[in-house]
Amino acid sequence: MKQIILTAPGKLEYREIGNKMNVTDTTVKVEVKACGICGSDMALYNGTRDLTNEHYFGHEFSGVIVDPGKGDNGMKAGMRVASELVKGCGKCWYCRNGLANYCKSLNDVLLPGGFTEQTLVTNTEEYSFLSPIPDELDDITATIMEPANCAYHVAMKANICPGDTVLVFGLGAIGLVAALILKSMGAGTIIGADRSPLRIEEIRKTGLLPIVNTTDPNWKDQVREMTAKQGIDAVIEATGAPAVLKDALDMARYGGRIVVPSVYHGSIDGFEPLPIMRKELTIVGSKGPAPQMKSDGTSAVVDKVLELKDSLSKIIKVYDYKDYEQAFADARSGAAIKAVVKF
Ligand SMILES: [Zn+2]
Ligand SMILES: [Zn+2]
Repeated sequence: MKQIILTAPGKLEYREIGNKMNVTDTTVKVEVKACGICGSDMALYNGTRDLTNEHYFGHEFSGVIVDPGKGDNGMKAGMRVASELVKGCGKCWYCRNGLANYCKSLNDVLLPGGFTEQTLVTNTEEYSFLSPIPDELDDITATIMEPANCAYHVAMKANICPGDTVLVFGLGAIGLVAALILKSMGAGTIIGADRSPLRIEEIRKTGLLPIVNTTDPNWKDQVREMTAKQGIDAVIEATGAPAVLKDALDMARYGGRIVVPSVYHGSIDGFEPLPIMRKELTIVGSKGPAPQMKSDGTSAVVDKVLELKDSLSKIIKVYDYKDYEQAFADARSGAAIKAVVKF
């Protein structure tokens, strides 16, 4: 069995790893069809996140169950599945307090990860990191289920009313998919903001939303031109650049809301927190995927991905596994909004 391995920051290898994976009472075996490159994979690749204690690489995958294991987990051989956090354990302090996105770290659920021909996934009656893929959804678009789960969480935290204006800073997959989900939930004008010319060009081609380039000196006026002059109802700050939080405080309206799914490193020079009080702002964090279970026990994210599949497919660029170097290079440069490696 072969795997794309990150041996050191910037150093990828496609190599034979043998086949010693056996399912247990709590795992199922999945033959991977495709795996998306996440921002967290890029952080490992770029060396901004430490590789030492990482168990796996790649967690946005689709595939087929080849061994459903011994557990009673609703999985059968031949079922098409995609990764996403469907259920937390329901027993830990976090799950019992409505914080199931903190239940069991992702590092425990997936070995050796999605950039491989086969992987083991923890899947029990209580805990699930796999959703069945509907027949109408292809394997490539299904890889976006996991980031769509994170984006769904962001959209829920935005707590919008129909017609609300939304400004999304940072048009990586999370920001962009959150924008699409918010649109589907009834948001009014949604504007994207980014500073990467290559990424802006790629997204403009899709026609999914209007974009301002925050390197333009008058970008704030451009936003005000497109929205109500008193500011934005809900701002999503998904850049990962701490200084952009200042712009978020500035652009939000009085009583507005700012959602922060950004993974920040570092601090903000000259940060002025006064607008938080003056404008009565609400600032909320949004961390990772979270179970979005419907009353029938299945995931609302699956329905949302199906509903938005035509738009979502526009932001995916597919690479054969042999071209993994190119996939990572394009994910880094912004030439691919969401690079997906096909096995
Ligand atoms: Zn991810
Ligand atoms: Zn739990």
